[in-house]
Amino acid sequence: MRAALLTHVGEPLAMAELPMPHPGPRQVLIRVGACAVCRTDLHVVDGELPDPKLPLVPGHEIVGTVVEKGPEAGRFAIGERVGVPWLGWTCGVCEYCRSGHENLCERARFTGYQLDGGYAELTVADERYCFAIPERYGDVEAAPLLCAGLIGYRTLRMAGEAERLGIYGFGAAAHIVAQVARHQGRRLFAFTRPGDVGAQQFARSLGAEWAGDSTAPPPAPLDAALIFAPVGALVPLALAATGKGGTVVCGGIHMSDIPSFPYRLLWEERVVRSVANLTRQDAEEFLALAPVAGVRTETRTYPLAEANRALADLRGGALQGAAVLVP
Ligand SMILES: [Zn+2]
Ligand SMILES: [Zn+2]
Repeated sequence: MRAALLTHVGEPLAMAELPMPHPGPRQVLIRVGACAVCRTDLHVVDGELPDPKLPLVPGHEIVGTVVEKGPEAGRFAIGERVGVPWLGWTCGVCEYCRSGHENLCERARFTGYQLDGGYAELTVADERYCFAIPERYGDVEAAPLLCAGLIGYRTLRMAGEAERLGIYGFGAAAHIVAQVARHQGRRLFAFTRPGDVGAQQFARSLGAEWAGDSTAPPPAPLDAALIFAPVGALVPLALAATGKGGTVVCGGIHMSDIPSFPYRLLWEERVVRSVANLTRQDAEEFLALAPVAGVRTETRTYPLAEANRALADLRGGALQGAAVLVP
């Protein structure tokens, strides 16, 4: 099977012909229909995350069809459409797994990082971490739901009941979260790279009542801010834009260093927190909510062989919505 392979971090992916993967116990073999490109893939390729499996097939926003089942796999039928997210396996016995925090599992394994992912024609996945895909979405439309959607949703949940919601970095996750937030009746304020008028317009088209530069103050103090851009300097900016008792949630897996800032920005019970990975419950909840909330995804498709171009476009901020690879 053909795959886009990472052999050395810091180098471009190369197309390779790999042996056909075989599903092990509780695994399914999936013919990939679409795999979205996540910023985390860039962090993996660039070597910003420690110890990836090498060589590695990246990609953790996979939608495909079950074509073979391994021993004891019975959750999905042959021909059924499934999604594979970032969380690929957990131990089930550590204190985090036992307390409903499997996203923090001590021995968790992640798709497209420690496990081969979806930049390929075929992939295998543990069926216990796969999800049925709502029928109303095509493969390409559904792919960004699997990470931008799921982890975006977990990030939004950490904002609690916040009514005035700020979003910093209006990419793939933000464009989905914005729609859910509007569905929940929240007021939306979008912050982009200074001068990025296109992204600001995109945010307004998705229901933001205000969109402006990340360095600008919002018209009213935020109740919570979500940061999706991997830019540590946004943390003090978001704190300054947030009112008393407000929360700033960092939704990414990697960020540049956060500059020091005066304590008064945190004072008055403001909170800064991060979100790590996802639980299967997040996925079930979000995939049920997305069609009800009328979430639509904006995508740009690339042939699998052009994975490097998709990564470059994401890096360059040239995308509106999500890049999706089609084998
Ligand atoms: Zn565990
Ligand atoms: Zn991701």
